Amino acid sequence: TRAGAPVRHVTARVAPLGSRLVLALVEDRTRERRVEEVRRDFVANVSHELKTPVGAIRLLSEAMLEAADDPEAVKRFAHRMGTESDRLSKLVQQIIELSRLQADDPLDAAVPVHLDDAIRSAVDASVIDAGAKRIAVTVGGQDDLQVFGNEKQVTAAVANLVSNAVSYSDPGSTVLVSTRVVDTSVEISVVDQGIGIPAGELDRIFERFYRVDPARHRSTGGTGLGLSIVKHVAATHGGEVRVWSEPGHGSTFTLTLPQHFGSERKQEDSP
Ligand code: ADP
Repeated sequence: TRAGAPVRHVTARVAPLGSRLVLALVEDRTRERRVEEVRRDFVANVSHELKTPVGAIRLLSEAMLEAADDPEAVKRFAHRMGTESDRLSKLVQQIIELSRLQADDPLDAAVPVHLDDAIRSAVDASVIDAGAKRIAVTVGGQDDLQVFGNEKQVTAAVANLVSNAVSYSDPGSTVLVSTRVVDTSVEISVVDQGIGIPAGELDRIFERFYRVDPARHRSTGGTGLGLSIVKHVAATHGGEVRVWSEPGHGSTFTLTLPQHFGSERKQEDSP
């Protein structure tokens, strides 16, 4: 009928729109549920991880009270309390960093990031630890490269890689941080001559709170969050992080981010 035609026409147009809407809603719900699951897991892990140093500090304080007439023992316990407190504060700081990363849209305040600056700050952050182990951290490669993103987060990602390279290397070794262009991306690599990572662990080390050997790494103050921060920053900036490693010889981590072609700093800085 003449009257029916336009109705069919309208229906035909509404149907796909409606199903797209339903699909979008279902996808939204699934995403919401997944985000909620991840959040719940994270909270459970966080409470577990926080309990370890807090419990240790509690036990050490009891041990100190009992050993009050043995100054050597008191000194030893006090030293360990210091180590556990440092671990606790690093843990809290990284948990805050990671949850901030998960909550914010990292590219909200995106700006051109000069890698020279980010790498310099990242290396500076490890200078005390590297100095204590007589580890030389050298920076090389191509200058004046830029990426587009959140400067604090890019710096934090590189800082985590450098800090790991220093932590998992023997005294007197070398860490090399270098940059180069690969296609349309920039690659920042951090190469160490450290203990390396067994092949079977390579894809697990990016998981939150995962440590290859928690007991052995207790002394390094590791939290198991550093690489998940790096992975998160890489993903939100449209890049990736990769690792190659040979146990006993060293590891190479690369962070690849899309290159930003801004004006060169010299032109920018001149009036
Ligand atoms: P952590 O705070 O324990 O260093 P990360 O998430 O940064 O946590 O790293 C996870 C684990 O991966 C570390 O506990 C360590 O076992 C291993 N790892 C990371 N970087 C290196 C490296 N450069 N050399 C050897 N092992 C490493």
